[in-house]
Amino acid sequence: MERMLHFGAVGATRNKRTNVTNLGAVDESAPNNSNPNLLDPRQVKLTTRTGIEINRLLPHKSIRRIGPFVFFDHFGPTTQETLMQVGAHPHTGLQTVSWLFSGKVLHHDSVGSKQLIEPTQLNLMTAGHGVSHSEMSLDTGSNLHGIQLWTALPFDARNIAPAFEHFAQLPMFQNETYEAQVILGSFQGASSPATIFSPLLAVELHLMQSTTLHLTRGFEHGVFPVDSDLLLNNQHVPQNHLLYLDDSIGEVTITTEKPTTVVLIGGAPFNEPIVMWWNFIARSHEEIVQMQAEWNSHSPRFGEFMDEINHRIPAPPMPAVALKAR
Ligand code: MN
Repeated sequence: MERMLHFGAVGATRNKRTNVTNLGAVDESAPNNSNPNLLDPRQVKLTTRTGIEINRLLPHKSIRRIGPFVFFDHFGPTTQETLMQVGAHPHTGLQTVSWLFSGKVLHHDSVGSKQLIEPTQLNLMTAGHGVSHSEMSLDTGSNLHGIQLWTALPFDARNIAPAFEHFAQLPMFQNETYEAQVILGSFQGASSPATIFSPLLAVELHLMQSTTLHLTRGFEHGVFPVDSDLLLNNQHVPQNHLLYLDDSIGEVTITTEKPTTVVLIGGAPFNEPIVMWWNFIARSHEEIVQMQAEWNSHSPRFGEFMDEINHRIPAPPMPAVALKAR
């Protein structure tokens, strides 16, 4: 049976704790009682016809964003044949960052891109004023494992023309304790060629042993252990949790008992109030109303493209109350 997995491109999802229907990116995880900076994954069931759940780390009740990273979804590893088929859906005001640990995903979009992504490669889509895309895992669905991040575009870039970039190889940095692939921004003097619009970074680290990381001055960071628990400054960080580090922290010691993969994100605190709703980021309720109406009326704002699944996802109805920028 074909199953579906959506990256945020969803209609209503149900919040188990409160039994209130939330809309896509508005979902927030519950705060972790013992440490508000340790963000526990919240399982989000993304469509009504799937058994698949993804784990959402951002936004979170206690930490809404890390630098400009406003959205952090982790999916897989899948253990059975599970196709991801996310039909055409729009975005505005953000970049989507797709990164796989295993599997293959085919991306189509309204700026004319048709691009396969595999592990160690980056798909980066800049939505700007408006774009639409679809994402499909190929027939290797039994080992689909990855993350999708969204970064909010700053005010001056929020309405730029949409664009898509694919990088088959990214800069590496290596020392005695780890190997790093620089996905976005700069780390230890190595810089990703990917286009970014505010100071930020994303790095995949392969720790061979315990290490000390020198962090970027003035950045908030998030540390996400992919495949085992670790200790960070003697604090336990469980696998698949996201630890928030505030912008005063310049150096951390990570202790691991075995080689492990860690994703490090960071950025200058993003202090602009934004409105996030469904797949859109805007600055006001009125802008969201307009985006929702334009997508549902097939406005040229979001372009058009043909893909293999031909399943366009409509925007859900607007909530009864006005959305607030925060
Ligand atoms: Mn999307």
